[in-house]
Amino acid sequence: MKSLKENFQKSHIVIIGSGIIGKFNALEISELGCQITIIDPNQRENSSNAALGLLMGNMYQKRKGRSWDLRKQSIELWPQWIKFLQKFNYELNIDKPLIQLTTNKEKFRKLEKFIYENNDQNLRILEKDSIFIKNINKAFQTKNINGMISYKDGRINALLLLQTLDKYLKHKKVNNLQGEIIKIRKFNNQWISTTRNHENIKSDMVILCNSLKAINLIDNLSHNIKLKPVLGQAMEISINDAEVDLLSLPKQFNINGRNIIPKSKNKLIIGSTDEYSTKPEENTFEKLINFLEKKPNWLMNGKISKKWYGIRSRPNDEPSPIMKNLEDGLIICTGFYKNGILLAPACSKWVANEIKNYLH
Ligand SMILES: Cc1cc2nc3c(=O)[nH]c(=O)nc-3n(C[C@H](O)[C@H](O)[C@H](O)COP(=O)(O)OP(=O)(O)OC[C@H]3O[C@@H](n4cnc5c(N)ncnc54)[C@H](O)[C@@H]3O)c2cc1C
Repeated sequence: MKSLKENFQKSHIVIIGSGIIGKFNALEISELGCQITIIDPNQRENSSNAALGLLMGNMYQKRKGRSWDLRKQSIELWPQWIKFLQKFNYELNIDKPLIQLTTNKEKFRKLEKFIYENNDQNLRILEKDSIFIKNINKAFQTKNINGMISYKDGRINALLLLQTLDKYLKHKKVNNLQGEIIKIRKFNNQWISTTRNHENIKSDMVILCNSLKAINLIDNLSHNIKLKPVLGQAMEISINDAEVDLLSLPKQFNINGRNIIPKSKNKLIIGSTDEYSTKPEENTFEKLINFLEKKPNWLMNGKISKKWYGIRSRPNDEPSPIMKNLEDGLIICTGFYKNGILLAPACSKWVANEIKNYLH
């Protein structure tokens, strides 16, 4: 009987889609020793490249169920992966803490209750006289901002992460193929993935990590999965007000559902709205800056220096994300309409276990 290691080494796994989910799966599976081919027609223009990289795990208020389990697992796995990946890029880091703010009294009461009931040393209510609240009130010309600080959550630079994964996967000799898969089928116990250029790639397993397009590939295999597109948007705004120093604000925070990342004294990034559409509307700027009753002048008069968006996939009739073993040798990881960066380690751990069970 062949050893487990030999089984892994002779197994070929095709990963369709090279966003954060595809790349992270490749990272974890490559540690098993399998041969891997990752296929994507355009790995630079996907939602992973658009992500702001916030890791909102520990501040998640529903502390039970699958969604919390995946978050909890990811928060624990991230520091280990960062340590591992720093060998390939020492700049990769998780910038902590993360701050969540609200001007809504009811929402703040819920936050207080959540912190009181959980008694988690890594979560604290921000006191009115904390430097964060003082500086935010000053910059946004408000008095009624309240919130919490999470010392375990933070932000990872998504582009740096993707580049580091590329470097690592190259080092592990993961085969990177530029192409679009238009069909998958099973023949003689092997999976055959066909590219638009009629190339057939044989493998023992296929992992679908191609977000919305995954359903096109399983249509003929009679699996009932429905996804809808969700637009995520972000913009970099340059301000022109000598009185305001954006670097006096926390490094990453969320106010009334908007994620904000100050980049320099006079530049910040704001993201993201969720719209069930695939094209941004005309009034994106107004929508993105509309998170306070009274907007400060510096923000209203700000100029957009960059803007970008990404399309995420959201499951229609089931919870997000979809991580399923569809049939022998076929796994799907899709529907990461939010938090795909955060959840990538929990997803890859699940995939690696499925592979171990299948190839043992
Ligand atoms: C503006 C914005 C901000 C965000 N901020 C955050 C954040 O702060 N924190 C966080 O955790 N998440 C954030 N997200 C969400 C996160 O980006 C997504 O959850 C994540 O990128 C999903 O990754 P994915 O690999 O599933 O999909 P994608 O990154 O979209 O990758 C799918 C890949 O599949 C490829 N593909 C499609 N069809 C085929 C085919 N037939 N053959 C081969 N390849 C194919 C595509 O080319 C693409 O590269 C944000 C998203 C956006 C848009």
